[in-house]
Amino acid sequence: MIWLKARDLQLMNLAIHICPKHWRLLGYPKQEPPATDGGPTGVELAGAIAELARQTLATEFRRFDPTSLKLILAEAGPRILPSFAESLAAAATAKLLKLGVEVRTGAPVESVDAEGVIVRGERIRTSNVFWAAGVRGSPAAKWLGAEADRAGRVKVLADCSVPSHPEIFVVGDTACLEEGGRPLPGVAQVAIQQGRYVGRLIAGRLKGRPDPSPFKYFNKGNLATVGRNFAVMEAFGIRTAGLFAKMVWAFVHIQFLVLTSSRIGTLFRWSWKLLTRQRLARLIIEPEPSQDAIRATQHNGQRTNGKAEKSRSDRIARVTVQ
Ligand SMILES: Cc1cc2nc3c(=O)[nH]c(=O)nc-3n(C[C@H](O)[C@H](O)[C@H](O)COP(=O)(O)OP(=O)(O)OC[C@H]3O[C@@H](n4cnc5c(N)ncnc54)[C@H](O)[C@@H]3O)c2cc1C
Repeated sequence: MIWLKARDLQLMNLAIHICPKHWRLLGYPKQEPPATDGGPTGVELAGAIAELARQTLATEFRRFDPTSLKLILAEAGPRILPSFAESLAAAATAKLLKLGVEVRTGAPVESVDAEGVIVRGERIRTSNVFWAAGVRGSPAAKWLGAEADRAGRVKVLADCSVPSHPEIFVVGDTACLEEGGRPLPGVAQVAIQQGRYVGRLIAGRLKGRPDPSPFKYFNKGNLATVGRNFAVMEAFGIRTAGLFAKMVWAFVHIQFLVLTSSRIGTLFRWSWKLLTRQRLARLIIEPEPSQDAIRATQHNGQRTNGKAEKSRSDRIARVTVQ
């Protein structure tokens, strides 16, 4: 069983490529599917795995049968991507189905064990479960003795301070601040904007200025990608799904890269992938040696005075990135 909280799909792709354990995921018989969850993380992950298996691996490995993969996306709520408009969630569902992902909604995962998962009373046998159902906030509410929401986030006032403690501020994922009757989402933009707001507020207080007006979140929009050339986008009143949204997604992500060289490199790699369906990076790695092979190498090493060490470094040297 794999228990992952990472959203970084590039890393996930890498993990699937390099870790022999994960290879089984791609070759698993139909009765043993992997399962994930239907927020943006689960949707993006399911799309990436499906595409990796059905397109990239299928064209590069003669003995790999893409139909042997079964991928189930289990979502407890009535639809995937609850933070997006219903039409966009429907478009993403259609795209996932096209990629061969089975999307189950109203399907809460009730337990996960070594044999697989139980989804709404049904046992699904699998060795590979990708858990993407969210994270728990830090226990700051307990330390502060402050009121918390169901996720353990500190309920803060409109200036991000803790009730009855104007000198204590909580921002980002650890804070629960309601706007328009709904708590702000646990996303980076909320954390960044709250951090800046509180920074300015404290600086102002130190200079003896009056406190600014309450914090107001400026929503720059939502994006989620499904596979190589498809994304859903909701920003500034525009709702769209498809290649244009994917271009915006790519632009936004490249913008956030720190170095110009990284931006150019990433742009080139993504353009190559989009146009050719080929990935520029290849990791060629040998499978874990069997216990017999290890014993044989150790035995030979004893007899040949250090050759075992050399053969080990040879093996590592052949792990090549092209
Ligand atoms: C898998 C995943 C994918 C995500 N994808 C997106 C996305 O695509 N877009 C988006 O906008 N948001 C995304 N988010 C949400 C986003 O990462 C968070 O909302 C954002 O990082 C919150 O910022 P923060 O500063 O509140 O917390 P964090 O970024 O988590 O920073 C908290 C820091 O405090 C440190 N820390 C924790 N406890 C202590 C302690 N006791 N003492 C000292 N330091 C401590 C931690 O190590 C960490 O460095 C994602 C989150 C996850 C988990």
